[in-house]
Amino acid sequence: MKLYNSLTRKVEEFEPGEPPFVSMYTCGITAYEHTTVGHMRTYINTDFLRRTLEYLGYKVKMVENVTDVGHLTSDADAGEDKLQKKAEAERKSAWEIAKEYEKEFFETMDKLNVLRPSVVTRATENIEEMIALVKDLEKKGYTYEIPGDGIYFDTSKYPEYGKLANLNQEELKAGARVEVVEGKKNPADFALWKFSPHDKKRDMEWKSPWAEKSFPGWHIECSAMSMKFLTPAFEGGKYSPQKFETIDLHTGGEDHLTVHHPNEIAQTEASTGKKFARFWFHNRFLMVEGQKMSKSIGNFYTMKDIEGRGFNPLAVRYLFATAHYRQRINFTWESLAAAQSALERLYSQVSSLIEKSNDKAETSAKWEAKFKSAIANDLNMPQAVAVLWEMLKSEIADNQKLSLVLAWDQVFGLNLKNPPQVPKTEIPEEVTELAKEREELRKKRKFEEADLVRKRLLNMGYLIEDTPKGYKIVKK
Ligand code: AMP
Ligand code: ZN
Repeated sequence: MKLYNSLTRKVEEFEPGEPPFVSMYTCGITAYEHTTVGHMRTYINTDFLRRTLEYLGYKVKMVENVTDVGHLTSDADAGEDKLQKKAEAERKSAWEIAKEYEKEFFETMDKLNVLRPSVVTRATENIEEMIALVKDLEKKGYTYEIPGDGIYFDTSKYPEYGKLANLNQEELKAGARVEVVEGKKNPADFALWKFSPHDKKRDMEWKSPWAEKSFPGWHIECSAMSMKFLTPAFEGGKYSPQKFETIDLHTGGEDHLTVHHPNEIAQTEASTGKKFARFWFHNRFLMVEGQKMSKSIGNFYTMKDIEGRGFNPLAVRYLFATAHYRQRINFTWESLAAAQSALERLYSQVSSLIEKSNDKAETSAKWEAKFKSAIANDLNMPQAVAVLWEMLKSEIADNQKLSLVLAWDQVFGLNLKNPPQVPKTEIPEEVTELAKEREELRKKRKFEEADLVRKRLLNMGYLIEDTPKGYKIVKK
């Protein structure tokens, strides 16, 4: 498979260290807020990647973390812990907050048919491993202490810092490092371990070699967890940096290019002396009116909004399959409605194929090759979707079409064989009457009047979509 590698900024042949096995690490959510459609994009694309590798014959072990402690409100290691802050605002404990939002995340992923990772692990479950790693970095001379604040990684001791995506010093500084932490030797230095503030009781804190009450920095967790669950570095419960083996694939959203991932690389490579990961896969953002859809800006939608508007969650999956993962896209309800109509057309074509075909499975080498060449071409899902429609329109036998579509659905994950029953939202009578009226006007070729009715419906929150089978009313 050809895949763009953020480390080299090139499309390269994906080659794991020990084929057919692939060790894959995915940076998970910080569990302090709702799961947004922006998250859905990153994790659906990562799921397309994993399913593609499996379709092509690889055996993937995928580890994903949940950040439940240590991610501060600023990437520059200033500010409060995001979970602690939310806990105080909601008068709950940080443990409760983490549990609540992790549950929401995986429930959302299940609805989107995102396969569960082979291992899900939480920062708070790996405290000892993180301490062992920081101790090793300390022993090797990469750290310094800022009294009363924490243990920091000295990036000047690691000359290759920032090689991910070939970031230059300017780009690194631009990476959200506007806030200055007093005592840092270099702007890019980052916290490995933080000391609890003296004047405040935290819900999550641990005794460490550096302080009675302390907690991990955000980046150390991913280094420790990827080593522990994907390599023999922590075999026998003891950290042996020399046992570390380069992992094959590391994934995350584009925001991780400038801070989180360079820091993970620095920690891991300084401690082990080996390359951290062969391939780095980054998803571009889902935007809303030119800005990233994000929890902190508040311009986000969740699964509740999607279902509340009568959408099939898998329409979100179809929508994201139609855009390449390395392109930023804008989210609109209109584009989701269009994705849902396309998906419904697909469901109805597959169901008529099921009726018409006998059980004889037949394939077509030509179409199978076309599909594989799309997915293996830097995960070109839009091309794979186009191949799917072309194949359905082609002259091949129904049995062949059905076998192909069901096989390809292992990658698409759209439940094409058993479409989900989506509860219909109640549409008020007034709206259905107006829609009928518009249709009558159109039949009489009174298009301008029909359009006025369409606009009126739009103002009432309903969109009329014309499909080959007639019109459809979609709640906006
Ligand atoms: P967070 O919980 O904010 O750490 O985000 C978890 C993952 O979701 C990260 O890899 C982010 O890059 C990704 N993510 C968050 N918002 C978006 C968005 N609007 N579009 C794409 N990915 C996103
Ligand atoms: Zn991470």
